[in-house]
Amino acid sequence: MIQIHDPENRELLYEGKAKKVYILKDDSSRVVMYFKNDATAFNNQKKDEFEGKGELNCWFSTLLLKAIDDLGIPTHFLERISDREILALRVEIVPLEVIVRNVAAGTFCKRYGVESGMALKNHIIEFCVKDDDLGDPPIARQSITALDLMPLHELRYITEMTEDVNKYLRAIFYSIGLTLVDFKLEFGRAPDGKIYLADEITPDTMRLWDHKTNESLDKDLYRFEKGDLLAGYREVKRRLARWQDTI
Ligand code: 5GP
Repeated sequence: MIQIHDPENRELLYEGKAKKVYILKDDSSRVVMYFKNDATAFNNQKKDEFEGKGELNCWFSTLLLKAIDDLGIPTHFLERISDREILALRVEIVPLEVIVRNVAAGTFCKRYGVESGMALKNHIIEFCVKDDDLGDPPIARQSITALDLMPLHELRYITEMTEDVNKYLRAIFYSIGLTLVDFKLEFGRAPDGKIYLADEITPDTMRLWDHKTNESLDKDLYRFEKGDLLAGYREVKRRLARWQDTI
């Protein structure tokens, strides 16, 4: 039996801003993702800890990755193994951030000088290079293939997956009175070459606005000191739990 809880059986593979990833010594095809309580913004210039955030983000990722997986979109999620930990397939993360924008917000507004909240004629799928030192710059599809970051057929595949995830998540959040303004996805490649949706899906990686009040219930509460981050995340959890009861 695989010793998923034994600390002796783990080796730290990677520590990011919000998670630690451990490889299992007796099964190198799986990893444990541990959700930290840290919140960071603006490329680590702002940093704080929120007791309970790790548990909330583990809960969100479990619910949403599982729901996406159930839809037939392959994700790295295997199971939640504690309040703060997920067991996942080991994949090599593709160094791209895939951003979906349904409403103008964040860096999109800065880049093009438009108002936050502006309706878009169509949603947008953007790619950014996952590189903090470069500030995660946007990258054109042709630059991705030219730099050999991902071949065209895989780029098309992850674009299709992203379209499906957006349709599904938008509908879920709409049903609980929230607009899915934008979000970020990451993908990974398994040793057999298969591509999986990876990383986390949480209010750290998306913008969610309340239909009635337009208030943010996501990491912008912390980034721009708009309000209580934990209260916002708990409200999203409360509504998602209600949605979960209906499926
Ligand atoms: P923006 O480009 O406006 O900063 O971000 C667009 C969306 O992608 C937001 O929902 C934001 O939370 C998410 N996002 C983009 N880059 C990152 C990142 O490096 N880390 C996290 N947690 N979210 C990101």
